[in-house]
Amino acid sequence: MSAIERMKMEADIVCVGFGPATAGFLTTLTRALLKEDGTPAFESKVMPGMPLQIMCYERADDIGFGVSGVVTKATFIKASFPDKDLTKEIPNAVAAGDEKVAYLFDYLGASQRDPGTMFVDAVFKGGRFFMGKCPEAAELPWIPPFLRKEGGIVMSIGSFVSWIGAELMSSGLVQIWPGTPVSEPVFEGDKVVGVRLADQGVDLQGNPDPANFMPGMDIHAPLVVVGDGPVGAVGRTLDDHFGLPEGNHQHDWAVGMKAVIELPESCTLKPGTVIHTLGYPEQEIFGFMYVYPDRTASLGIFVPSWFDSPVRTTYTYLQHWMQHPYIWRHIEGGRLRSWGAKSLQESGVRGEPYLTGDGYVRIGEGSGTTNVLTNSGVDEAWHSGVLLAEGVIDLLQRDEPFTKANLDATYVKRRREDKLNADLQKAKRARDGFQDGFFKGMMGTGMTGMTNGAMNVSSQSRPPSQRIKTLLETFAGRISEQDLAAAVAQCAKDKQPLHDTLMVLAGWPEIKMDGELLMSHQDVLFKGGKVQAAGGFANHVTFAHPEICRTCKERTCIEICSAQAIMPGEEGEPPEFDREKCIHCGACVWSCSKALPEDPEKTNVLFGAGSGGLHSNEN
Ligand SMILES: Cc1cc2nc3c(=O)[nH]c(=O)nc-3n(C[C@H](O)[C@H](O)[C@H](O)COP(=O)(O)OP(=O)(O)OC[C@H]3O[C@@H](n4cnc5c(N)ncnc54)[C@H](O)[C@@H]3O)c2cc1C
Ligand code: SF4
Ligand code: SF4
Repeated sequence: MSAIERMKMEADIVCVGFGPATAGFLTTLTRALLKEDGTPAFESKVMPGMPLQIMCYERADDIGFGVSGVVTKATFIKASFPDKDLTKEIPNAVAAGDEKVAYLFDYLGASQRDPGTMFVDAVFKGGRFFMGKCPEAAELPWIPPFLRKEGGIVMSIGSFVSWIGAELMSSGLVQIWPGTPVSEPVFEGDKVVGVRLADQGVDLQGNPDPANFMPGMDIHAPLVVVGDGPVGAVGRTLDDHFGLPEGNHQHDWAVGMKAVIELPESCTLKPGTVIHTLGYPEQEIFGFMYVYPDRTASLGIFVPSWFDSPVRTTYTYLQHWMQHPYIWRHIEGGRLRSWGAKSLQESGVRGEPYLTGDGYVRIGEGSGTTNVLTNSGVDEAWHSGVLLAEGVIDLLQRDEPFTKANLDATYVKRRREDKLNADLQKAKRARDGFQDGFFKGMMGTGMTGMTNGAMNVSSQSRPPSQRIKTLLETFAGRISEQDLAAAVAQCAKDKQPLHDTLMVLAGWPEIKMDGELLMSHQDVLFKGGKVQAAGGFANHVTFAHPEICRTCKERTCIEICSAQAIMPGEEGEPPEFDREKCIHCGACVWSCSKALPEDPEKTNVLFGAGSGGLHSNEN
C-alpha cells in the first residue's frame, strides 16, 4: 500500500476519536484560543495568519454514537462548567438519587458457582428478610463509600458528548468529522507526524476497486491526540510499535451490553435511581439499572474476561438477567428502545501505555484512566483531556514544540501530580482477586476500597486467552461428554453459535421472546439507532492466522460476539465476519481463546478501524 498516492493535509492538532476524553481536551483548549477581543491567541503554524487548525476524526456515524456510560460523580466535569447546572443543560439528565446494591440469588439454579459463592449465597439468603422486598434478592443495607454516586449525575454519556460536540462546532474553532475512521498513525521513525484516514472504495480484503477507490488522506500535524478508547486502532498500533511500559499489562477486560427501556406505567422507580447488582446470571456478571427522567431506564450487564467459560454470550445472559424477578418487576410491560455494547479496559492504570512520544499523546480510557475501584471512567477520561489541554496551552504560550520531553514536562507531570493519579493508584489493585475467582475478587475489592488502596489481595495475572476453559471443563457434571459432542456437531452443521443450545442443556430455560422486551439477537440489531455500515470499507475484524481458527474448538470469538457478526463458517474453515452487523464492541479481540504465537499477550483477532456500527447516542 506504500505506493499509493495519498492526499495530504496539514493541521496544527489532530485528534483521534471524540469521546469524553477528547471532549474534555477540546473544551478546555478552545477556551484559550481567542483573546478577549476575539482575535486568535495563537497563530497557526500550517496556515500563517489564521487561528490554530484543529481537526477531530470520529469513527462512529455521528457524534456521541460510539461512547457509553450513564452514571458519573462528574466531579471533574462539573469543575469545567462552574457556572452551569449540567442536569439542566444536558437532555434527559438528572441528579443521581436513590442508590441500591442488590445481591441476586440464582433462583433458577442454572449458573456455575464455586464454593465461596455458595457460602455468600447462604449468608445473603439468611439475611434477606430484612434486606429488601424481593424474595429472590437481598439489598445491601449499606453501600461502601467508594461505590456511591451520591452528588453525581445520571445522563446518557452519548447525549453529553453530543451536547459538547455541538458547542465546539458552533464555536468554529474545531472541526469534528464523524463517520471518519482513522486507520493508523503516520510514523517517521519513532516520531508520529500525523494520522492516516481509512481507505474507501475497497473490497472486504482492502483491495482497491478501481472505479471507486479513495485512498485515506494523510493529515499531518505537530501534535496527534489519541483518545480512541479501549480498543482503538491508533492506540493499538502505538502499543504494537512501542510496547507497554515495564510491569504494565492489559489482561483485564469486560464487555458491557445495555438496553434503553421505556418503563411501564406500573414502575415506581424515581428518576435518578441507581441500582447495581451482583451474583446473577453468573457469579462473575455484574448488572446495572439507571433511571432517566423521561420514564426510560438504561440497564445492562458486564461480562468480564475472568469469566472463564468459552460460552460467554452477553446477549443471552442479558436476557436472563432482565428476567430476574428483582429486575423484571420494574420493567415487565415496558419496551426495549435501543441497545448496544462496548468493551471496557478493566486493567485501569495497570494498562497505562506510554502516555507521550514525539508528536503524540494519549488520553482517556486507552491511556489507563478507568478507575476500577469506583467503576467509573467518564469523569476520569474527561479530566485527562483537561490536563492535556492545560499542558498544550503552556507549550503554545512558550512556543515550544510537541516533543516527548516537552509533553512529559507539561501533560504527564500534571497528570502524575493530580488527584486523578492518586485515585487511580489507590484503585490499581482493586480487581486483582478476580483473576483467582469471584469470591476472592469481592474480598479484594472490599479490602482495597475500605483501606483506600493500602491493603489488597494478590493473584497471578494472566491474559484472557490463557484462562479460557475448554468446553468439556466448562460443562463437566452438567452436560455429558456425549451430549456435548453431539450438540457441537449439530451447531457446526447448522452454522450456529453454541451458546443457546449448550445453555439450555446446562439447565437454563429457553428465552420466550415477546417482541417487546425480549427479542431475538437478530431483531435487536435493528434497535440501536443507525445500523448500516457505510459501504466501501475493508473488513476491520480479521484473523491473524486462519489456520489456528481451523483447529480451534472453543471459538470464543463467535460466542462472545455482541452482534452475531462473527458466525461459524463452512465446517473446518475459520469463522465468517459480516462487517455490516459489527457494532465495534471489541469483545472478540480479548475473548479469542488463542494467543498469537509471535506475542502471547495478544490474540488471533486483529481489530482495525472501521466505519459504521450500531449505536445511538442514548447508549
Ligand atoms: C456499557 C458501558 C457502561 C459504562 N458505564 C459507565 C458509567 O455509568 N459511568 C462511567 O463513569 N463510566 C462508564 N463506562 C466507561 C466509560 O464509557 C469510558 O470510561 C469512557 O467513555 C472513556 O472515554 P474515552 O473518551 O477515553 O473513550 P471512548 O468513550 O471509548 O471514546 C472513544 C471514541 O473514539 C472513537 N474511535 C475509536 N477508534 C477510532 C478510530 N480508529 N478512528 C476514529 N475514531 C475512533 C470511538 O468511536 C469513540 O467515540 C461504561 C462503559 C461501558 C462499555
Ligand atoms: S479467532 Fe480465536 S477464538 Fe475465534 S476461531 Fe480463531 S482462534 Fe478460535
Ligand atoms: S465482531 Fe464486532 S460486534 Fe462482534 S465482538 Fe467483534 S467487535 Fe464486537
